[in-house]
Amino acid sequence: MTPPTGAYRLSDEQVLLRDAVRVLADERIAPRAAEIDRSAEFPEDIRQLLATHDILGLPFPEQYGGVGTDLLTVCLAIEQISRVCATSGLILAVHELGALPILLAGSDEQKDRWLPDLAAGRTLIAFALTEAEAGSDASAVRTRAVRDGDEYVIDGGKRFISQGSVADLVVVFAATDPAAEKSSRRLSAFVVETDRPGFAVTRIEHKMGIRGSPTAELAFSALRVPASNRLGEEGDGFGIAMRTFERSRPGIAAQAVGIAQGALEIAARYARERKQFGRPIGELQMIQAMLADMDAQTEAARQLLYASCAAIEDGAGDAARWAALCKLVAGDAAMRVTTDAVQVLGGYGYIDEFPVERMMRDAKITQLYEGTQQIQRLVIARSLLRDS
Ligand SMILES: Cc1cc2nc3c(=O)[nH]c(=O)nc-3n(C[C@H](O)[C@H](O)[C@H](O)COP(=O)(O)OP(=O)(O)OC[C@H]3O[C@@H](n4cnc5c(N)ncnc54)[C@H](O)[C@@H]3O)c2cc1C
Repeated sequence: MTPPTGAYRLSDEQVLLRDAVRVLADERIAPRAAEIDRSAEFPEDIRQLLATHDILGLPFPEQYGGVGTDLLTVCLAIEQISRVCATSGLILAVHELGALPILLAGSDEQKDRWLPDLAAGRTLIAFALTEAEAGSDASAVRTRAVRDGDEYVIDGGKRFISQGSVADLVVVFAATDPAAEKSSRRLSAFVVETDRPGFAVTRIEHKMGIRGSPTAELAFSALRVPASNRLGEEGDGFGIAMRTFERSRPGIAAQAVGIAQGALEIAARYARERKQFGRPIGELQMIQAMLADMDAQTEAARQLLYASCAAIEDGAGDAARWAALCKLVAGDAAMRVTTDAVQVLGGYGYIDEFPVERMMRDAKITQLYEGTQQIQRLVIARSLLRDS
């Protein structure tokens, strides 16, 4: 069998969904974006909007009440929402990130228990891997889960957990065998209901961008969960996290493409209207070159993202490489394009009368979370060297 090549063609349903989300984003989310950024408060109204329109249900199979779409369709939705508000796009991206461990490794009973409410958007879920001493090196997690009869007792803490303070469920990665010979077997994954005694939100970070997305520090103190909340077997946690990233990193690439597209559109519109030296700045070749480069970078990132989704969905053996490729390229494109958008707008780009300064701040996170750009390069290089 020839390996998946990433060939894709958007179906009629995908185009319809993309366009419907685009209209919803323009009409209902864009008017809220500046205030969400200014207040740095989680936009509960947008979460409800996404739930009501079944957008939060996109990643979930129909048998659990979801829409049952493929990865590319989820990414089309994240892209369109992020085009006007990266914080709002992240609600869907994180909901998918948190649900993936259950979708990938949950038993039928666990899926029946948690997925219907998640698919309906009645509950939200977060993904808690990172700790103060375990960032890029995720296998260094220190949070402990110790078996006690039919339960596990979890002690430790997590940092930088998106939506950790508003989620009803958090997938917590904890060490069940800290001294395991293979570091990849140290961790197990647990679904934790956030109303359990011993679960606490100890801090919300002040951030440069995606300011409406609460980034929480979590503390677990003698937190008891039933053994039936463990996903997979003991020691499967690291593998579950890595398989999750193969499907969630394209979501961050989609967020990046959306941010870049939003900034490009604003810069192009501004260049048509703003006059200096007696003519629109869009007639100046240096501005034209900047706009052309912005378009080329955004479109290249988008095409790689869609191709990556297709390859991953088709079961590519090197799914981790595809996921890393699209996140790397899209994150860098978003950072460059938004920076250039500020340049096209001149001084007006630097003040919050226009959204491009917000988009530039929002873009930066796409180069950092779900693995920094350096880590994406490591993943790609390892795949190349292994295969050759
Ligand atoms: C706003 C926000 C939201 C987040 N949301 C979540 C979430 O929902 N869930 C979650 O679990 N985590 C989340 N994170 C954590 C995020 O994934 C980590 O911050 C990220 O993986 C980097 O880890 P670190 O910050 O500890 O940096 P470090 O690992 O300390 O890295 C510092 C620098 O060293 C480089 N570096 C590290 N190792 C290598 C290497 N081997 N080779 C080359 N360079 C290397 C890095 O690229 C970086 O430039 C979030 C972070 C932020 C800021």
